[in-house]
Amino acid sequence: MIELNNIFSRLCKCKFCGKNMKYKNERNIGKYICSTYDNYGKNYCKRTHVSEDFLKSLIFRRFQRELSDQEIREIVDYVEVEDSLLLEIHFKNGDEPILLKGKFIQF
Ligand SMILES: [Zn+2]
Repeated sequence: MIELNNIFSRLCKCKFCGKNMKYKNERNIGKYICSTYDNYGKNYCKRTHVSEDFLKSLIFRRFQRELSDQEIREIVDYVEVEDSLLLEIHFKNGDEPILLKGKFIQF
């Protein structure tokens, strides 16, 4: 079975270097990691990362239902990731972004 489980690959951007984040499966947890860090190491960028399930859960909570991968791709403009608990999910239709700042979340 082929799973299309890297839905945020072109949507997740590292806040520090601005590059797209790379999908990685680590111990069966799908994550996005700064591609600069992954390719060149810590002298070039931070280990910015976030789990795919966590991003999905934030979006499902905003819309109060589970969206398909295709729906997510259609509505999400980009995700700016500073850390796993510091991120912004921006939408194409001009909806307010989901803001996660540590313990503070704005849906
Ligand atoms: Zn980076």
